[in-house]
Amino acid sequence: TTLSGSSDGATIYEPQRVVVIGAGPVGALAALYFAKGGWQVTVCELRGDLRNPENRSLNFTKSINLAISERGINGLRTVDPELTESILDEAIPMHGRMIHDHRGRQSSQKYDVHKRFIRSIDRSRLNEKLLDELDRMSNVELKFSHNLKSLSLEKNEAVFERRLNSGEYENVRMQADLFIGADGAHSQTRRQMMKYVRLNYSQEYIDSLWCEFQIPPHPETGDFQLDPNHLHIWPRQTFMFIALPNQDRTFTCTLFMPEEMFKNIVGPEALVSFFKKEFPDVVSLAGEDGLIGDYLKNQKLPLISLKKCNPYHYKGKCVILGDASHAMVPFYGQGMNCGFEDVRVLWEHICNDTNLADALDNYTSERYPDCITINDLAMNNYVEMRASLQQHPVFRGDKAGQT
Ligand code: FAD
Repeated sequence: TTLSGSSDGATIYEPQRVVVIGAGPVGALAALYFAKGGWQVTVCELRGDLRNPENRSLNFTKSINLAISERGINGLRTVDPELTESILDEAIPMHGRMIHDHRGRQSSQKYDVHKRFIRSIDRSRLNEKLLDELDRMSNVELKFSHNLKSLSLEKNEAVFERRLNSGEYENVRMQADLFIGADGAHSQTRRQMMKYVRLNYSQEYIDSLWCEFQIPPHPETGDFQLDPNHLHIWPRQTFMFIALPNQDRTFTCTLFMPEEMFKNIVGPEALVSFFKKEFPDVVSLAGEDGLIGDYLKNQKLPLISLKKCNPYHYKGKCVILGDASHAMVPFYGQGMNCGFEDVRVLWEHICNDTNLADALDNYTSERYPDCITINDLAMNNYVEMRASLQQHPVFRGDKAGQT
């Protein structure tokens, strides 16, 4: 809040206005921090409301579940301990990795000597719970089907293109003291901010693509077909298959593999023989038809790493968080976790620094080296997960927090 004088001379507090661009996990959490801090918050999201089942398919480019660790939980807990507990109630603890070899033998590698663990969580449920919480607050407005087109930061104004039910579009202008870009790896906020600040930036696509599969519950018992308290990995040197548990006793699996290898799998027969050779136990768990169906239906998506983005802000007017500022490959399981930490660190500066400009300046200075480091760790863990793991098949000591 800012101080200003009222007509009768008394001091009044004016709530400041923030517009958050993107209602993914990081944007929704940022909105919650600012709303609880008394700001007027408007969240503008390109897509329709993901809580409406009709809009679910629009979110197909995101993994179904992900690993949440202490870094992310801390970001949640700092703003809302109760909500955090209700989110964690639906998460499944993963105490270690389970390595699957070519013969289907499994060996467990605990993450941590102190028994700390990471958790598998449904991405949509997490996002929905954050949005539900925002809906309950009187100082928050959620606006869906709002696509950021441009930012005039000197005028403190954003222009969104709003999709109407008729299918037509209209422009919507919004004024704010602060704009927060949490609009993902291909951030329009970042692109707009580049007009105002000498923003250094580099991005890289790795050669691997990812494709999702499902392992259903056991057909007779209805139970998990694999130990649910592990993150399962089938490391195969240049590619790998992983599986994370879900509440409904399924596993969501991801095949990470070079594009060339995907191209070489032409047709259902080639797919089944590839799985029989590389991941024979998966064929019996997922079934040939299941594998074929998922492979034909699901996209093969690229992985981007966005590294040298600096600064993350412009004056006291605009800042980018989460994937918009540091999208990373998913192999360290820290992309969203790191985005949640961004929000917590930013809020500390907003609360403690002299003014917004200092807060954003100090945020970039503090956060940049940390984000670069996590980004590097994520890239290095790709080699570790798909290859090096096999050389250390037993116990690997203190690894809590990483996948
Ligand atoms: P996003 O989730 O990308 O959300 C951005 C939002 O902004 C979207 O809703 C989008 O519609 C909206 N938007 C975009 N453009 C505009 C616009 N112009 N105007 C308005 N709105 C806009 N992370 C982990 O921590 N643990 C894991 O285990 C993990 N596993 C992963 C597995 C895979 C296969 C992948 C690909 C990623 C994984 N990640 C993981 C990373 C994680 O998904 C991201 O870091 C996280 O989603 C980033 O959240 P975000 O809110 O910053 O961005």
